[in-house]
Amino acid sequence: MTIYIATGNAHKLDEIRPALPGVDIRLPSDAGVDFDYEETAEDFVGNSIGKAMALWSAVGAPVLADDSGLCVDALGGRPGVLSARYGSPDGVTPLGAAERNRLLLGEMRGRRDRSCRFVCCMTLVLSRDRFFVVQETCEGVLLDEPRGSGGFGYDPVVLLPELGRSVAELSAEEKNRVSHRGRALSRVAALLDGLGSAL
Ligand code: IMP
Repeated sequence: MTIYIATGNAHKLDEIRPALPGVDIRLPSDAGVDFDYEETAEDFVGNSIGKAMALWSAVGAPVLADDSGLCVDALGGRPGVLSARYGSPDGVTPLGAAERNRLLLGEMRGRRDRSCRFVCCMTLVLSRDRFFVVQETCEGVLLDEPRGSGGFGYDPVVLLPELGRSVAELSAEEKNRVSHRGRALSRVAALLDGLGSAL
């Protein structure tokens, strides 16, 4: 089956493709659609459903949307849905990941509660009135300094205590096994499997 992905983030696509083998993954541009969705919801689920429905209206075919980010307990869940725009001087233009990570660790300097989690909400739309939403997490602890060069975004500053490594120190396969996105994707894969001929 063909599924259009509501993202322009190449890193997310690299993680989505291997998790859905047998699915013909396409970009909005493959359908001639210039997709740019303004995320205005206060939570991941609102943005995920909004993004998915907007793309479904544009392509008229099955769509998968991902809204994700990092929630830090000591910061009341920030940056959360604003993860991509954290520290942006105008609230729109994103900082580079390294600069954003420096800023976050600076804001967290001296704080003892370093618990945080990645969150990923995925919406699979099969038709306007037929859709499925899953949200998963990956629990971590904020490091004092970035570690590792894999992954993207906040991966170098989040330690996974049970593995003793930052997310950026994992291979792509290891990250997909334990990450918020990998976990959400395995639920989407199971859902597609279960729907079988009812797709
Ligand atoms: P959005 O889902 O497009 O709103 O962007 C989410 C932002 O959260 C990204 O720009 C990343 O900075 C961050 N993020 C989401 N998933 C991950 C991940 O797997 N690792 C590190 N950072 C992530």
